Amino acid sequence: MAEMNNLQLHLPEGINYECTGCGKCCGGWAVPMTEVDYERISKVDWGERLPKFQATSLYRPLKDYEKQGTPYTHAIKESATGQCPFVVDNLCFIHSQFDSETKPSICQLFPYSFNETPSGVYATVSFVSMGVIHNSGKPLAEQRDYMTKKFSDFQTLYPGHHPNWAKLEMTNGKPISWDEYLVVESEIVSSLQNRELSLENRFREASEKLLARVRGVSSAPVSAATEARSSSGLKPLDHHLLLTLHKMYFPTKLQGRGDGDFKVMRFLQQIAFRGIGNKFRVALPSAFYTLGDLSAVAWDDKDPDIESLLYRYFYSRIFAKLYFGAGFGQLTVITGFHHLGLLYALVKMQSKALALSRGVNKVSYVDVVAAIRQLEKRMGETSVDGMAAAVFELLMFSSSRLDRILSAA
Ligand code: SF4
Repeated sequence: MAEMNNLQLHLPEGINYECTGCGKCCGGWAVPMTEVDYERISKVDWGERLPKFQATSLYRPLKDYEKQGTPYTHAIKESATGQCPFVVDNLCFIHSQFDSETKPSICQLFPYSFNETPSGVYATVSFVSMGVIHNSGKPLAEQRDYMTKKFSDFQTLYPGHHPNWAKLEMTNGKPISWDEYLVVESEIVSSLQNRELSLENRFREASEKLLARVRGVSSAPVSAATEARSSSGLKPLDHHLLLTLHKMYFPTKLQGRGDGDFKVMRFLQQIAFRGIGNKFRVALPSAFYTLGDLSAVAWDDKDPDIESLLYRYFYSRIFAKLYFGAGFGQLTVITGFHHLGLLYALVKMQSKALALSRGVNKVSYVDVVAAIRQLEKRMGETSVDGMAAAVFELLMFSSSRLDRILSAA
């Protein structure tokens, strides 16, 4: 068994993974490589092995902002269709010609991710993978030896991965210890697992619990009746926040690492130049839809496949602590959780827009799969710096803003 440096490895419940060999994970991004990856792979004469590689430029150096905070120096250029050029007959040509260890390090690790915290290392998997989306294969919790080996590979690739969890707050000015946080997290997860409520009401219930804890009062349970409430109407700032986050996480053009970060100045300019009352529109590459268009589309989060996918996606981010503190933009717990709630609203809106673009007025599992995969891809490539985090704290602390946005989605 690989060295764990005495770190306890935590594996999520109910998350399965096995590669289905569909080849779909190998597209939509320029695969980054370390210097060692680049030297190993670029010295092979690929044109000699397959004519399609002759006279083809396969690699590019990363730009400075793409390299920042990463171990990578180069990328494999995407083909015109957005796929990695090494996908041949749905399989990795590098792997088929050599072995798994010859592939770029990131591909060897994919779809696993590991997050070191004061109570050990929390593992999860990327929802870009179709195997993960469909929950294929054995539960991760039953693959401990393999996961330990993968964590050892991760440590080799990211030797400096020691996130700083020293400053932990429920909300600005309200510190919380790590042990207290773990109790809070179990409350969030119990709300997320409350299958008597719709998913959006599970977010509302958890939000109420978090805010009640800060105020030192007990929270009122969210009842199923809340679901019948109609949209209470978005405020202008809600529109701008949604518009900016939608552009960041669901861009209409392919973007690379860092291209879609939350830019505070751009956000303020949008408010200044477009007017505070600007209408929110969900843009796809081929069309755009207003909230009125989307409200006519049926959404059934009680559909077992849709419910399971959405539950697993949000549970996975919470379990792996990838939504607050060192796991995401150094946000406070409440703001980090509300940001997840907004992501749920955006996934719902994007799924409805995708359904409309297919000419139907009911969201199906395929729409939600496409929205979740796109979101997951962008989450790995965007960041929230100190100034952006301050704006997030200002705009996302409010449970009523989350409530309005969930109602309008
Ligand atoms: S190098 Fe291989 S595994 Fe990596 S993205 Fe390309 S085809 Fe997929």
